[in-house]
Amino acid sequence: MQFIREPSKKVPVFAEVDVLVVGGGPAGLAAAISSAREGVSTMLMDRYGCFGGVISQVGVEGFAWYRHKGTTEAGGLTYEFENVARALGASTPRTESDSEALDAEMFKYVADSIIRSAGIRPLLHCYAVGGIIENNAIKGIITESKSGRMAILARRVIDCTGDGDVAANAGVPFTKRDKLSWVTPVFHCRGVDGKKFLDFVKQDLKPTFADWSGEWSVETGGEEKDMFSPYLAKPFNDAIKDGILEKVEGIEYGGSYGTVSPEGDVTQLNVVFISGVDSTDVKSLTDAEIKGREAVINAIHVLKKYVPGFENARLRNFGMTIGTRESRQIEGYYRMTGKDVLNQAKFEDSIGIFPEFIDGNGVLRLPTTGRYFQIPYRAILPQKLDNLLVAGRCISGDILAQGAFRSMSCCVLTGQGAGVAAAVSIKEDLSTKEVDIKKVQSALAKQYVRIF
Ligand SMILES: Cc1cc2nc3c(=O)[nH]c(=O)nc-3n(C[C@H](O)[C@H](O)[C@H](O)COP(=O)(O)OP(=O)(O)OC[C@H]3O[C@@H](n4cnc5c(N)ncnc54)[C@H](O)[C@@H]3O)c2cc1C
Repeated sequence: MQFIREPSKKVPVFAEVDVLVVGGGPAGLAAAISSAREGVSTMLMDRYGCFGGVISQVGVEGFAWYRHKGTTEAGGLTYEFENVARALGASTPRTESDSEALDAEMFKYVADSIIRSAGIRPLLHCYAVGGIIENNAIKGIITESKSGRMAILARRVIDCTGDGDVAANAGVPFTKRDKLSWVTPVFHCRGVDGKKFLDFVKQDLKPTFADWSGEWSVETGGEEKDMFSPYLAKPFNDAIKDGILEKVEGIEYGGSYGTVSPEGDVTQLNVVFISGVDSTDVKSLTDAEIKGREAVINAIHVLKKYVPGFENARLRNFGMTIGTRESRQIEGYYRMTGKDVLNQAKFEDSIGIFPEFIDGNGVLRLPTTGRYFQIPYRAILPQKLDNLLVAGRCISGDILAQGAFRSMSCCVLTGQGAGVAAAVSIKEDLSTKEVDIKKVQSALAKQYVRIF
């Protein structure tokens, strides 16, 4: 690769805040709300024109679809997201679980409302491109936007970019597997005869979670075998057999759908899976977006031909961006493991509990048993750099544990832990490494999070 040297220049300081949260997905929203509720000045920024992350930018609506009778959860902001969305008419009950499907489009407005009422300073269309580092501590970040290159100074920074951009750019060690999880171009259809479609699902397909392991190499816990799952694979397999759909290396068809509305919308069609994509590589992302849109059009062709009710269906919209399940895992002072998730791990520095639920990398375990594990503060505390925390899918852990903590409500949980820890550390005048975890836990408990 060829290089050029960029001349150094003065950069204006756009803002100075106590806590800067970078990335406004489930983790970032939770981090910003919980920090602001602790009474410190908080700014939330995102590279796109709306908050909500994978919910509003990709179109993933199943916020807590794992929740069944007997599931034990931390509560806190996870319930609040669903409650506020319901109150604003921005959610629908899910068919397979005891949870709400968040309306991906309306969630942009839901997020704005939550941010406004929490007194958070919002900043959209702004990309974090580097860290400002002094004496092994982060002091703020460098941003790029239509306004040019600007600095934002902050006493604490929380990286909720999903990819761990801030931490990685600031030199925090991370891991990234050679073979990352599939990416998906999520899409939504309109013009579907909902009744006809649902009758077909109920009478002909009768899909259960066992089908996941029938179609993919997915290991399940067994307890989910006979439970209903909104899953569509057969039409795509039939289309391949009939020569209607071409089997292309690196693209798989078949997966789940979200909601079916009386107006004929079928949302969150999560039925195209592309392998070999690295979402921290702009060339790879470009290829995936273009390949993904083509695959979606092929998928709609199959749905129209093989699925009753879809005969007159049309594309309603693609997600704003391809959906990424996995990229960097930031190295923290503790690396969570699948064993922790499956063995009810306990930690003195717990920032909240999460049910024994895994969905990722060929493993599906639904939390129907009441079992749960604790998440340690050290998993969101990056090595090497002080006053930086990470939250969401990029926290420290192996791929099996990531199948649990990448779930949106677990991202909310780690976000809430990070927001409260950042605020408490400021109020106590201690760094994020030195902060008294007991004080963080008691502040989290006041925000209705179950810690142990
Ligand atoms: C196709 C698909 C289906 C899924 N299905 C489910 C499901 O049904 N249920 C479930 O619970 N989970 C599901 N997941 C997983 C879940 O959606 C994600 O793991 C979760 O949203 C991650 O949350 P996050 O806050 O860490 O990151 P994100 O939601 O990715 O949010 C990151 C935010 O940071 C912003 N950002 C990124 N980089 C920068 C930067 N440099 N500067 C400024 N802003 C930046 C982004 O624009 C974004 O808003 C799915 C994921 C995918 C891709």
